[in-house]
Amino acid sequence: MKAQYDVLVVGGGIMGLSSAYYLALKGSSVMVLDQFDVPNQWAASGEHLRSFGLTYGKDVFYTEMAVKSIALWQELDTQSGEKFFVQNGMLELATDTHGYEEQSCAVLKEMRLPAVKMGKEEVRRHYPMINTRAIKYALFHKDGGMIWARRATAAISMLAQRKSVRVKTHCKAALVLREKNAITGIKDSSGKVWRAENYLFTAGAWTPELLKNSVPLKITCQQQIYVRPPSNRGRYRPEHFPVFYVSSQGFSGFPLHIHGFMKIAGFRQGPAGKPGLTDKVLTAFDKKCRIFLKRYIPELAAFTESEGSVSYFDNTKDGDFIMDRLSSVSNGYVACGFAEKGLRFAPLIGKTMAELITGAKPELNLHRFRLSRLKSSR
Ligand SMILES: Cc1cc2nc3c(=O)[nH]c(=O)nc-3n(C[C@H](O)[C@H](O)[C@H](O)COP(=O)(O)OP(=O)(O)OC[C@H]3O[C@@H](n4cnc5c(N)ncnc54)[C@H](O)[C@@H]3O)c2cc1C
Repeated sequence: MKAQYDVLVVGGGIMGLSSAYYLALKGSSVMVLDQFDVPNQWAASGEHLRSFGLTYGKDVFYTEMAVKSIALWQELDTQSGEKFFVQNGMLELATDTHGYEEQSCAVLKEMRLPAVKMGKEEVRRHYPMINTRAIKYALFHKDGGMIWARRATAAISMLAQRKSVRVKTHCKAALVLREKNAITGIKDSSGKVWRAENYLFTAGAWTPELLKNSVPLKITCQQQIYVRPPSNRGRYRPEHFPVFYVSSQGFSGFPLHIHGFMKIAGFRQGPAGKPGLTDKVLTAFDKKCRIFLKRYIPELAAFTESEGSVSYFDNTKDGDFIMDRLSSVSNGYVACGFAEKGLRFAPLIGKTMAELITGAKPELNLHRFRLSRLKSSR
């Protein structure tokens, strides 16, 4: 049977669309399928805002990836004529002097990236809302910030379609058809079969269901809450207030956005879950948020207006991503396991998957992202 496309991408979240865009730039014909709209509220990339951080403790590799991603985000902003990559800085509140922030600071300095260590007095001066009794110091890096995730996903979809990528929404891939060691097609839930030379699976938290658990991932249900500052709203605007991150407490937060709300997110793994099964933010999370805010930004803890949302991490057991060829077939590829930090690297991940699929040598060293590392010790 003749293939209709060079590459069929299953999953039109930001990773699938970025891959499709860079594949098209390399001259491939590409079709993207998504079970819902593009973007959609259930996808991890369908969320309004995601943080862009440059720090990973002593793990230089991810800092290097973040630096490479900056230029690609800026290029996407330019190409689309939009502004979804906002470098309004990231403020990390350190609760001890020898931990994650100290290691991160050393890496930033070594890489000659701008980083400022602020003492309590300086933190108070710049951000009087922060309770400096709860911290030892703060690390500010001005190249960090945030990405308007849903808008970026929509813009990349538009850019990809301008390069002749086809995007089919409301089309759920139901079955992967195989013959010997090759994928021969994807049957959708209406029974239609889609054929291509190569297949890329970027289904996020739905990957275990789609690939019948052949890719080892743990899906966890994550909560976030949008709160309206009860007072002093103006000082939380993005031009005055950066993204903030408290590694020791597992929380991050964003400046004021959409209708005067601020997003507070927990980034520690939540309970095991499955997309669609849980759609209510547990009241326990609201309580945890108030406790966190009371300690670090007390005036926010008195919020009376809030709204919660749930989405899902696709976790690997070592915290590294999966970007590889599927081991059992010659023409199948997978990119997933992006859990709590994938979105900031989306253009780099898309570009790398395009290189891998077209047989070019990926610029990024993919050693850490191989599937075999997870399977061998399962
Ligand atoms: C709560 C939370 C907070 C996060 N915070 C950050 C952060 O601050 N910074 C950061 O960089 N990253 C963050 N991330 C991670 C980031 O959001 C994800 O890594 C990224 O969005 C993953 O994109 P994706 O395209 O792989 O998956 P998704 O965006 O989930 O897209 C997958 C797509 O596949 C489609 N699909 C699935 N199954 C099928 C099928 N059978 N047929 C057709 N289509 C299908 C889905 O409909 C969906 O549109 C966070 C993630 C979560 C959940």
